[in-house]
Amino acid sequence: MPKINLLGYTRSQLEELLVSLGQKPYKGRQLFAWLYKVRQYDFSLMTDLTKDIRRQLDESYNFELPKFEQESTSVDGTVKFLFRLSDGNPIETVLIPDGERTTVCISVQAGCALGCRFCATGTMGLLRDLTVGEIVGQLLALRERFGADAFTNIVMMGMGEPLNNFDNVMEAIKIINDENGLGLAAKKITISTSGITPKIRKLADMKLKVRLALSLHAATQEKRRKIMPVADTFGLEKLMEALKYYTTRTKSRVSIEYILFKGFNDRPEDIKALTRLLHGIPCKINMLAYNPVPGLDFERPSDEEVDRFARLLYPKLPAVTVRKSRGRDIDAACGQLAVRKINKGVNV
Ligand code: SAH
Ligand code: SF4
Repeated sequence: MPKINLLGYTRSQLEELLVSLGQKPYKGRQLFAWLYKVRQYDFSLMTDLTKDIRRQLDESYNFELPKFEQESTSVDGTVKFLFRLSDGNPIETVLIPDGERTTVCISVQAGCALGCRFCATGTMGLLRDLTVGEIVGQLLALRERFGADAFTNIVMMGMGEPLNNFDNVMEAIKIINDENGLGLAAKKITISTSGITPKIRKLADMKLKVRLALSLHAATQEKRRKIMPVADTFGLEKLMEALKYYTTRTKSRVSIEYILFKGFNDRPEDIKALTRLLHGIPCKINMLAYNPVPGLDFERPSDEEVDRFARLLYPKLPAVTVRKSRGRDIDAACGQLAVRKINKGVNV
């Protein structure tokens, strides 16, 4: 019988498991800490569990991390990893060192159903949701490789839409937050969404302290639906209401992501629309230049053009920052490496 992989089991699932093996629930909590905090995956070395339990665990279970398949390092220090999941699907994870902080950008789905016109992952369609174990596994694999300090912050800006894999993302966050899990505070985690309105409200009601980023990219419904088909399902007006609800309910600011596309959303009228749209919403705006994806029909503005747009925006809106493009030489734009693999026929 193949062993069952415990990667992704939450604290309560491990408690239940050990209860089913005739143990007290706190033994499950000990197992949880061994696996996620201590990163000891060899049951035989878990000294506070009885020998008999260790043997039973070893017979039927294991703890297997996703496998690194490929990695590329950018001249700016960004490292991009390709993992091959057990069913052959590729996903990517990016480590972005920046002074004191190192941000890890993780994937939450293989592919994505939402088909944003500028996004490499969007061209793949949705292959499947990642399991809790596959989400947490990207982080554990990096800690295994680089130690407990491998990263200080997590952004869900890799492949996929976090709010479309809501339950698994929330379970993963529980494991990440737990002091006997990965021990990383919720405020160090950013969920980026293309705007799944009902799920933004649901997230607001959960009152987690995670940070929320909205991929806005266009400030009118008419313009947004041209590049983000999700806007046809969740229109801009209702989306902004949900965002307001989120900021009120959680008493926090949101980040607004705005990719600048040359000749599409970089005009004075866009500044006006953005100012109008974001008025009264506690937010900061992160601007970044479009990262060209082969075969997609958008143009990247120059760094000067991005700066000029940001400077025009700044006096009208609070906190505008320009995000440096990282890892451009290694295709660190969302989804590119995995897409190349797929097109070469490795996966499909
Ligand atoms: N699905 C979520 C999170 C993953 S995408 C979302 O859309 O927010 C992470 C970020 O990468 C999003 O802000 C997305 O708009 C951005 N992105 C996708 N393709 C890009 C490209 N070619 N250049 C720059 N940013 C891109
Ligand atoms: Fe999906 Fe985000 Fe890419 Fe849009 S930008 S296709 S929502 S991963």
